[in-house]
Amino acid sequence: MSTLITGIGSLVTNDPAHGPGPLGVLAGAAVVVDGGRIAWVGPAAAAPPADDRVDAAGRAVLPGFVDSHAHLVFAGDRTAEFNARMSGRAYTAGGIRTTVAATRAATDAELDANLARFVGEALRQGTTTIECKSGYGLTVDDEARALRIAAAHTPETTYLGAHVVAPEYADDPAGYVDLVTGPMLDACAPHARWVDVFCERGAFDGDQARAVLTAGAARGLVPRVHANQLGHGPGVQLAVELGAASADHCTHLTDADVAALAGSETVATLLPGAEFSTRAPYPDARRLLDAGAAVALSTDCNPGSSFTSSMAFCIAVAVREMGMTPDEAVHAATAVGARALRRTDVGRVAVGARADLLLLDAPSHVHLAYRPGVPLTAAVWRAGVREV
Ligand SMILES: [Zn+2]
Repeated sequence: MSTLITGIGSLVTNDPAHGPGPLGVLAGAAVVVDGGRIAWVGPAAAAPPADDRVDAAGRAVLPGFVDSHAHLVFAGDRTAEFNARMSGRAYTAGGIRTTVAATRAATDAELDANLARFVGEALRQGTTTIECKSGYGLTVDDEARALRIAAAHTPETTYLGAHVVAPEYADDPAGYVDLVTGPMLDACAPHARWVDVFCERGAFDGDQARAVLTAGAARGLVPRVHANQLGHGPGVQLAVELGAASADHCTHLTDADVAALAGSETVATLLPGAEFSTRAPYPDARRLLDAGAAVALSTDCNPGSSFTSSMAFCIAVAVREMGMTPDEAVHAATAVGARALRRTDVGRVAVGARADLLLLDAPSHVHLAYRPGVPLTAAVWRAGVREV
């Protein structure tokens, strides 16, 4: 069963062969979807026939968003913490530990239902590929459980036992790193593709982060790093040195950090939802792009510091606050997100790619930044299946 989507006013392909710029925008376009893949891309007037036909009526189509950084296996609620922070009140009830306690207490079914709800919420906003980290269990069994549950929803699963030191190890962080690089890794590696660490003052220092990432890599997991979010630190340099797929946050960078990213294959993944939700200064995307670094955008969706699943919101903030052009931001949320996950089958509209498509209720992808907060999703296909 093939489907012709025609009458596309503006098609973002992320393939320079089809049009100017990194977005490869093609006007007056059509796409044929067959067997879950893109079978044809070109001018609508030249489109081949198909079994089914959808008229985009002049609206824009782009690749489904690739959200390469999210924390969605959790239970509980931190509304009070957010409300206190935004009301200028001190909040001392435990932050991430609140989520760890609630997650440990939840049943498998509760965690699975919660995750399914957020993956569905993201899908309805155009996200067709989503990464998902553990990190709210912090015991061997709870971390392995989180990854097992995540793996049922996405292949992009990340072992983040090194999110924070587990409360039981508050007085023995070295012992916790031994656990993370030993028995916990043994239990988690079969369910994970990636290994991640929160390399930050108050979490894990450079030596600890190196130990976590190299142990994971020895088990076949590819590194990605929470780096330089709250201050300067060794995270970005470590990510580049170890060939990590991405260094995430990148809010506080030295010139040497920027140069290291620009000279590497490591993607700088910026997560403006976190700065938005904590009233922190935004990362400087312009500086990274001008230096030649690859910049991706992701939600960092989590209940503490960035509870949004909206890639469109991140695009709008990146354009308004981080010096990105609308084209750069849309590219970052699709093609570069795919690169951050080392995927070539998603994040672009090209023959052979997975048929992940977002039809906007707008004539151009620029509306994602031009009309912030407006629900613009008209239809979503994931692997050729119409989901919205
Ligand atoms: Zn994160």
